[in-house]
Amino acid sequence: MSAFAQETLVGDFSDLKSPLSEEEALVQADLCLQCGGVYATAPCTVACPADVDVPTFIAQIAAGDPGAAALTLFEQNILAASCARVCPVEVLCQASCVMNSQDEAAIEIGRLQRFAADWAYANGVAPRKKAAANGHKVAVIGAGPAGLACAGELAARGYTVTVYDERAEVGGLIRYAIAPFRQHTEPLPAEAVALAGLGVEIKLEAKIDSKKALAEIEKEVEAIFLGIGYGEDVLVKTPGDDLEGVWESLPFIEALKDGNPPQVGRRAAVIGGGNTAMDVAREALRLGAEEVTVLYRRTQAEMPAFYHEYEEALEEGVVFKWLTLPVAFKGENGRLTAVECQPMKLGEPDDSGRRRPEPIEGADFDLPVDTIVKAIGQRPREEFLSLIDGLELEWGRIKINPETGQTTNPKYFAAGDAINGGATAVQAVGGAKVAVAGIEAFVQGEKR
Ligand code: SF4
Repeated sequence: MSAFAQETLVGDFSDLKSPLSEEEALVQADLCLQCGGVYATAPCTVACPADVDVPTFIAQIAAGDPGAAALTLFEQNILAASCARVCPVEVLCQASCVMNSQDEAAIEIGRLQRFAADWAYANGVAPRKKAAANGHKVAVIGAGPAGLACAGELAARGYTVTVYDERAEVGGLIRYAIAPFRQHTEPLPAEAVALAGLGVEIKLEAKIDSKKALAEIEKEVEAIFLGIGYGEDVLVKTPGDDLEGVWESLPFIEALKDGNPPQVGRRAAVIGGGNTAMDVAREALRLGAEEVTVLYRRTQAEMPAFYHEYEEALEEGVVFKWLTLPVAFKGENGRLTAVECQPMKLGEPDDSGRRRPEPIEGADFDLPVDTIVKAIGQRPREEFLSLIDGLELEWGRIKINPETGQTTNPKYFAAGDAINGGATAVQAVGGAKVAVAGIEAFVQGEKR
């Protein structure tokens, strides 16, 4: 039985992880053991894909200097404020905190990071200083976490950087595809202002959709960074797709973030077993659905969502139906009323190493629902990528040299979801930093 009364969630779109007050931050920072030293890096820092010096920034908070703590954070991660909200710290820095081995709660690194980074923006602290212009020009395509991190780091090193993005606001998946209970729009506007302060030019609603447009950019710059992420939801056609009440996950989250919350009715179902499916299911509870069911064609053991996300969804009252494949949406008067499901069993492992789900014939059943959201994954931006000469893909992902971020077209570098198929914002930041070093070596003469 859920520990939550579902009605307590309805209409609650506040942050899952609330901000710390100054007093709470000081108390929490004081608990840190300041691990690491000359001979060993602290495990929390080792676990951070952006290489943030965790003990140092926490010590600066404990010393009453959140501004210095923020500068320590921004040195490694210019998106420290956003990452503090959306990072899965439960499987990264906080999972590595030594307090866990002493049966104590891990230090709340994510909330401390948010405290320091938000303090800096509220108090006008510039995240980074700009080096003197070095005369080199780089273009960044995509204003998501990878693109913004790359642009900020290059600008801080003296490069002239222009960012292009097709959307009206910066942030990519953080702005448009991460549930609002993790992050609303803030602090992205402040992060964009910080980048502008470093001289980064951000061109929004600037879709690049032809070889000619790309050639114009190529002419202007010495290197191009691709931080384009993934595109729309994976296309899975199901009979009844056109019924009112059938959604794909990205438009669903975007509507919610834009202040047009979908009407979910009393019973909602979500298709998929990833982190986006967990987010959508939990948001559906907040939107007032009394029953929210996740339909997944494999079992809990194979689902890609982080285990803690699954546990939290379960705790809030989300129901999971394993080995269940939706095969048709049914409705009346153009409105969804049920989803027809086919039970599955697990067969031999497939290419992914996971046991392949196989249908059990003749056992279909109908699940009454008012809303269904497909959260099966996103698809690569193959149409855009086909514009770039010599760019090789692997399984739809951009192929790179992992040590430099360089693609098979030497002028292009890449990081983020477009190369890893969909991971975390902080991994995109870490990958962008590798690409910055690669771009620097390339444009400063060590061309490969
Ligand atoms: Fe502090 Fe935990 Fe990192 Fe040790 S591992 S420095 S206790 S946050």
